[in-house]
Amino acid sequence: MSEFAQAGDFCPNKVCVDYGKRQSERQYNIIKFGKTKAGRQRYKCKTCGCTFVETMGTIFYRRRTPEGEIIETLAFVAEGSRISSLTRVKGHKEDTILAWIRDAAEHAEAIEEILLAKYQLKRGQLDGLWAYIGNKGEKKTTQKPTKTANSGALP
Ligand SMILES: [Zn+2]
Repeated sequence: MSEFAQAGDFCPNKVCVDYGKRQSERQYNIIKFGKTKAGRQRYKCKTCGCTFVETMGTIFYRRRTPEGEIIETLAFVAEGSRISSLTRVKGHKEDTILAWIRDAAEHAEAIEEILLAKYQLKRGQLDGLWAYIGNKGEKKTTQKPTKTANSGALP
């Protein structure tokens, strides 16, 4: 049931002794730590001192590959590496990488922030990344479109 853990619920730093521990009355290592330029909540783990944005650690929550590895692969794609060559170099399937890009696109804003902060990427390169899945120009879709339920107008 913990599939959709909220960001800020746990420390995403794997070497931290409190890594992955949900916050509770007894477990309160995570504190709010200001906001990013884009207005996202930033958190800090008092145990290890790492800071992270709200979405970090949850975007690829159900994926087996560590988030850092996924982000790095996305950065390579954005830099212009061909996915087919990345499958050889990194050993991930092409479908897997495309699925990551699709996951990432659902959180495009947060992913862009991470990529721009961690890698020497330009906006145009990020657009190239999203172009892979044909999601260009449709970035802020964090919500799924709700189908009109029984409006009476059947096709
Ligand atoms: Zn920590």
